[in-house]
Formats: sequence, C-alpha cells, structure tokens
Amino acid sequence: MSRVAVWLLNDLRLHDHPALQAALRERPTEVTFVYVWGPPTVEWGIFSFPPSWEEERPRASVWRQRFLLEALLDLAKRVRLELLFGEPHQVLPAWAAQRGILALYAHREWAPEEQAYQQAVAEALHRQGHRLHLLEGNSLFEQAQLPFPIEGLPLLFTRFRQLVERTTTVKPPLPTPTALPSEPDPQVQEKLRQRLAGLPSLHPQSFPFVGGETAGQAWVRTYFQDAVFTYKQTRNALQGRTFSSHFSPWLAAGCLSPRWVYAELRAAEKARGANESTYWLFFELLWREYFRWLVARWGAKVFSLGGIQGLRLPWRREKGLFSAWIAGQTGYPIVDAAMRELAATGWTSNRARQIVASFLTKNLFLDWRWGAAYFETQLNDYDVYSNWGNWLYQAGVGTDGRGFRWFDPVRQAKLYDPEGSFIRQWVPELRSCAVPRVYSPEPSIRPSLRYPQPVVDWQRSLAYAKDTYWRAVKGSPKGNQLLKLFQDDEP
Ligand SMILES: Cc1cc2nc3c(=O)[nH]c(=O)nc-3n(C[C@H](O)[C@H](O)[C@H](O)COP(=O)(O)OP(=O)(O)OC[C@H]3O[C@@H](n4cnc5c(N)ncnc54)[C@H](O)[C@@H]3O)c2cc1C
Repeated sequence: MSRVAVWLLNDLRLHDHPALQAALRERPTEVTFVYVWGPPTVEWGIFSFPPSWEEERPRASVWRQRFLLEALLDLAKRVRLELLFGEPHQVLPAWAAQRGILALYAHREWAPEEQAYQQAVAEALHRQGHRLHLLEGNSLFEQAQLPFPIEGLPLLFTRFRQLVERTTTVKPPLPTPTALPSEPDPQVQEKLRQRLAGLPSLHPQSFPFVGGETAGQAWVRTYFQDAVFTYKQTRNALQGRTFSSHFSPWLAAGCLSPRWVYAELRAAEKARGANESTYWLFFELLWREYFRWLVARWGAKVFSLGGIQGLRLPWRREKGLFSAWIAGQTGYPIVDAAMRELAATGWTSNRARQIVASFLTKNLFLDWRWGAAYFETQLNDYDVYSNWGNWLYQAGVGTDGRGFRWFDPVRQAKLYDPEGSFIRQWVPELRSCAVPRVYSPEPSIRPSLRYPQPVVDWQRSLAYAKDTYWRAVKGSPKGNQLLKLFQDDEP
C-alpha cells in the first residue's frame, strides 16, 4: 500500500499539474490532495505589515475566501481532498505520519514567505523520514527554459519579452489524469459547503466569479469564442463583463494553468485567425510571467520600502489619508469609484488599479507597501508576484524605465469613463451629476451632495512627489545606475 499526497497551494486544478503527474509516477495505491487553510495563503488572525501598518483583518478577503472554497469544493467532488488548519510546517508532517503518507508533492513558490514555509515543511518531513518533492508549475516557462540565468533577468519587461519570444516556446499543458486512485469524501464536501454558507454572496454588480477549474475552463472557452478578438481595444475599460478576460482569480488560485490558457488561445487563433488582440492577451500573460521571475530574482527586496532600486524616499505614514483612500472618500471620483468597487467585490480593472496606485504613491505619497498590503487583503485574485511586482512598478522603485509614472484622475475618467457611468455606479452621491461635473464636482456643491472635498491638491501633491522622487534618484548612486541601465536596456 503506497500512499502519496499532493499539497495544494496556488494550483487548485487537475489539468497541467506537474506535481500530480510526478506523484502518479510513483504508481501509488492512493493519492490524497491536502490544502492548508492558513498562512501564507489565508489566515484568520491579524494581518499586519510591520513596521508600517497593523490592523486586525483577515489576510484573504471574504471574496477570495469564497473563491478558494468554491475551487476546493470543485476538486473535492472529484478527488480525495483533506482540509487542514494551522501553519503548514506544524500540521502537514503530523497529518502525513498519521495517514501513512510517504511523500508529498507540491509546486515550488518563489516568494520569500512562501519559500520559508516550503522549506520548513520539507525539513519537518525529512526529520520523520518523509520527503517533499517540489516541481515547477503555474508559469508559462520553467526556469530552465529562460534564455538567461535568473541573476540576468532583464530589468526591463520589454527586453524580457523580446528574449523569451525569440528563444523560448511554451510547452503544451499536461493532460488531466483520467483514472485517479483518489475517492471523493462527501463529508469534506459538506464541510466546504458549510463554510461557504457562512460567507456573503457576491455583490450584485460583481462579475459572476465562481471558483474552480470547471468554471474557469468554461469561462475561458466562452471568452475565446468571441470577446478575445477585440481585447486590445476594450482592455482598458472599467465596466462590463467582456472588456478584459477576468481570468485573474482563476490564474491566481491556479484553477487555470497559464500553459493551458495559452494552448486554448492558440486553438482560438487557429479557428478564427490571430490578430493584435489575441497577441495582446499573450502579452499580458507575459507580464504575469515577468513578475514571477522578478520575485525569484530579487526576493525580499521586492517587499522592501526602497524596492529593488533601494531608493530612499520620505514616504508618509498618515493613517487618515490612508483610511480615506481605502474607503473611497478621497474626493477624486474615479479613485473613489474604483476603491469602492474593490471593497464591494474584491476586484477592479487593471486601469482602475493603476489609477488608485498612482494616487496613493504620487499624490498621497503614502508608504507604497500600505497600498500593496491593503490590496493583498482585498483582492479576490491576489497573487503575490503580480500584486507586489505591480505596486513596486507603480511606486517607481521597481523596473519602470520611466521612473516617475503618474496618472491624472480627471483625464483618466474622461478617457475611460466617458459617460461617467462607472463613477455613478459606485459613488451614488454623484448620481445626479452629468459629465464633465461628475469627474470633479465644484467645491461649492460638494457639501450638498455629501461628497468630500479633495483630500490633497492634485497639482501641488504631484509636484512635491515628482521633485522628491528625482532628488532621491540623483542623490542615490544605485538609483542613478539603475536608471541608466533601464535607458541602455531600452529596445
Ligand atoms: C497595483 C496593481 C496590483 C495588481 N495586483 C494583482 C494581483 O494581485 N493579482 C493579479 O492577478 N493581478 C494583479 N494586477 C494585474 C492586473 O491588474 C490584473 O491581473 C488584471 O486586471 C486582471 O484582470 P483580467 O483577468 O481581466 O486581465 P486581462 O487584461 O484579461 O489579462 C489576462 C491575464 O494576464 C495577466 N495580467 C494582466 N495584466 C497584468 C499585469 N499588469 N501584471 C501581471 N499580470 C497581468 C493576468 O493574469 C490576467 O488575468 C495588479 C495590477 C496593479 C496595477
């Protein structure tokens, strides 16, 4: 009797699952899937981001918890799944010993906290004579496929993209195993259903996200029938079902493998013809890929105040401003609409994320990690690589060749919310305002609308941030060096 287990992390699927395939090569008599409901994925206790922000809130929002539980239920209906609670290195080894499980298989993570947990589990298992096998999954490319050693990861995304496009191909996804020695357990399904029943339902205005491989694959097939062929033109919109793919929660939880999405994209191109939109979806998957390797390359620096540039900026830590940003009470309608959508649904569009991140870092000039940490606790598609990589980039301490990137909220609203409908949807105080007033109501009418005055002066705050940023770069030999590298690296 040989029993093995697959330790699920951000890979809640059966298709293209290298860890599962490796477990099956052992020809086990039973495969159990095990998921630890605890750090670093979800946590019920205090999430804090010392030294800057401490607040009692679950690490994963109810929207993400709902999505994960649905994804686990989808698996529990097809295979034997067990749910454990606690810290992985404390609960997994004891569980494995008790169940007579000889080896655990999982996908390797690249972020420091995730790696520390994997290391601790491996050591604890080793002490009792068991093994943790780590394989690569969840990326388009394996590390060995990259056309450079990880230390040589280009600082510019464009360079990375050109290199991988020129020299590397995405491997076909591994098949879903047909007969698994893994019997579903109705009691586990019931437990998951009970937990789900304790969570709020999706907001009526939310995209109808349903966690799980089954729902994710079905949605990919629907999106690739038609909507993907206009993705390039629609992707910056703020509202609607098909302006962008909405694949992110499924990709983040690993209900979808990026290689499988890529294979489906190629199939759609074969069926209807490739165009710049289908290419652009691949382009965005390459951004996702880039941030994974960025974290693998730079580790803890990605999460540090100065970022990978080590820039010393006098970021503010004003809780009042931060609370206004979180609550969507900044007095800047497009920012407030996006922040309220994020709080109410756990998701907001890429354009909206860029606008609010720019506002936090370039106008409020708040510690950018506060923004990243809040997103971590709020997003239903939270992904350590994409979240922290994008925040680093938006804060100007990462790999943005432009250095100081900013968004004008009124101009952005005019461009991407031309009718003002996104703002009116999420900021009901402004429902009676027509365009262009809805983008920035005059100070005199705000009290009667019960809408706040701007928390900062946009022009002045931006000028201060810009000046402070460039002075810091000039005063920092490393910052200067890196910026020069960015320019030299430009295609
Ligand atoms: C400040 C900030 C924080 C972010 N945090 C996350 C996060 O925690 N998790 C997450 O998945 N994405 C994050 N993103 C990236 C991006 O906003 C979302 O992936 C995207 O909006 C999801 O919508 P979609 O699936 O419709 O994307 P589409 O536009 O349809 O793109 C397809 C897929 O490509 C990937 N992708 C697209 N844009 C990016 C990008 N800029 N960076 C990395 N991958 C990208 C995603 O996997 C996405 O599902 C963040 C962006 C910003 C600016």
